Amino acid sequence: MSAKFERFISTRVKKDVEEEEKPRIAIYWCASCGGCEIAFLEIAERILDLAEKIEIVFCPCIMDIKYHDVWDMPDDYIDITLFNGAIRNDEHLEMAYLLRDKSKILVAYGSCAAKGCIPALANFNSKKEIFDYVYKESPSTVNPEGITPQPIVEVPEGELELPAFWDCVKTLDQIVQVDYYVPGCPPAQKTTNELVDVILSGKLPKHGSYIGSATKSVCDDCPRERKEKKIKKIKRPHLSEIDPEVCLLDQGFLCCGPATRGGCGAQCPSVNMPCIGCYGPLDGIEDQGAKMLGVIASVLDYEDEEDIKKAMEDIVDPAGYLYKFSMSKSLLFKNRHEKFKADKERLRV
Ligand code: SF4
Ligand code: SF4
Ligand code: SF4
Repeated sequence: MSAKFERFISTRVKKDVEEEEKPRIAIYWCASCGGCEIAFLEIAERILDLAEKIEIVFCPCIMDIKYHDVWDMPDDYIDITLFNGAIRNDEHLEMAYLLRDKSKILVAYGSCAAKGCIPALANFNSKKEIFDYVYKESPSTVNPEGITPQPIVEVPEGELELPAFWDCVKTLDQIVQVDYYVPGCPPAQKTTNELVDVILSGKLPKHGSYIGSATKSVCDDCPRERKEKKIKKIKRPHLSEIDPEVCLLDQGFLCCGPATRGGCGAQCPSVNMPCIGCYGPLDGIEDQGAKMLGVIASVLDYEDEEDIKKAMEDIVDPAGYLYKFSMSKSLLFKNRHEKFKADKERLRV
């Protein structure tokens, strides 16, 4: 447990709630689609209750505030920062350090901040491959001079600076210490409500834990009837009839429920769609994709290797499907982390 975090528990939240001082909250995004900000509004009328009891001191999505305003805050000025989005460039890195210094509690809110999520699918390609495709080769691009974004560009008026684009996407806790995690892409209403309960009550769970999620898998919340899973063919939901009562995996649909942390209330299977794994792996599982591969291997009803290979060919983009939400934390990606320590050191000094 960090010293900063211990100080927070012993003083600030308890004191604020008892004396009705308002905890200061920041909400910030980095490599993000913006969905997590919208998801926060899903608490509906509770937002009014929250607005009375907290003070939002930094949230560029809803207020006109500049980075220098945050630099001017004393360290630990913000009680809780909800940080969504992954870390993809130098600006994100700088904001992760800045908000860590200014916040007593830093929460990785949503799958991008916690696991890399959709932005981290880019980790299958290098920066060069991404730039070559986006700025030179894509069918809609006209760029005869092959110009790509540069961190520093000289123009007659002076020097223009862009945040340097990294070779990979990282999670918030691969940059700074994170106190809590909130899973989901985006977090479900139920999950965000549990986070709001924590903010308003000041009753903090164990440091480093996931708020608003379960210790069991999505299957634990799923109302569908389960039998022994043995399938001959992997099917796609938009191309097949779906029995609304029976486990989707039993029917041959690639439901990632068994390899995914619960807490959303099995939202997707409840509306006839397989879980695609957005709450990330359960505690103790290092690699969500490998866990799900194990599940697939156990349900495919074939002995012969060629039959298994043929059945697996029905999974469109298997790496993209199985690592859609957890690429930055996967074993697949692990060996690339060392390369990026230099970025971290450079902006820290
Ligand atoms: S977790 Fe999902 S909803 Fe939230 S910012 Fe990332 S991609 Fe968007
Ligand atoms: S595999 Fe999917 S459909 Fe089956 S019980 Fe688990 S969550 Fe429900
Ligand atoms: S069912 Fe799976 S994909 Fe759907 S919200 Fe829950 S964890 Fe995310």
